[in-house]
Amino acid sequence: MLGNSGKNHGDSSIILKSSSEISLMYEANQIVAELLCQLRKIIEPGLTTFELDRIAEDFCAQKKAKPAFKGYRGFPSSLCVSINEEVVHGIPSRRRKLVKGDIVSIDFGVCKNGYFGDSAITVPVDSVSSDKKKLLAVTEDSLLMAINEVQVGNRVHDISRVVQEHVEKNGFSIVRQFVGHGIGKSLHEGPEIPNFVKNGNSPRLLAGMVLAIEPMVNIGTHNVSVLKDGWTVITTDKKCSAHFEHTVAVTANGPLILSSQTLFV
Ligand code: MG
Ligand code: MG
Repeated sequence: MLGNSGKNHGDSSIILKSSSEISLMYEANQIVAELLCQLRKIIEPGLTTFELDRIAEDFCAQKKAKPAFKGYRGFPSSLCVSINEEVVHGIPSRRRKLVKGDIVSIDFGVCKNGYFGDSAITVPVDSVSSDKKKLLAVTEDSLLMAINEVQVGNRVHDISRVVQEHVEKNGFSIVRQFVGHGIGKSLHEGPEIPNFVKNGNSPRLLAGMVLAIEPMVNIGTHNVSVLKDGWTVITTDKKCSAHFEHTVAVTANGPLILSSQTLFV
């Protein structure tokens, strides 16, 4: 789930974490990573988004972790599931079935031992069109390029710039209304991590910062609006959108991807 650049979500100050706190955050994020990896493997036509949410709830109970989004500002579910032109914050539903050719974004967060984890993937449902395939590849690559910029001494705008450049070079657009965020004992802390270069001061990256970096990339216009349910964000031109997110710690040795799925694939 995302920090909204227009509203103040939680603490906006930047809080550095000790190595023992980063270990606790790794634990929380690995719960997120394991569930996302499981869901990626079972995604198929006919599944409802509600069924995905139930799996996430059961998984949280099994891991003794609290689903981070459920109840957050009134959000009703453990997962955000956003299909095709839905950008983020889609609400799981018994009536919404996955269809061959869809792309489905799954955003998941937990709180474990007082610390949050947050990560998202976008997955094709069976085979998808070549433009959707390209959208997924460009969005995920832009996240990986962003993570490479997570180096002590860089600034947040170095992250923003590589995402924007890669996405726009490939003919897609960056959502501006929603941004990434710091994370720790709160789901949303400072600094904001825009996926586009903003004017003004940009914080320097320091060892101990933990950042949720989350490019949201649209095939068409960058403009988005919110459905009547008060949550689901869609593209105004109804063209597809993708979303990938990792929680990453800034260390003296470079980026540490706390929500890495490599143990589970
Ligand atoms: Mg997030
Ligand atoms: Mg998220």
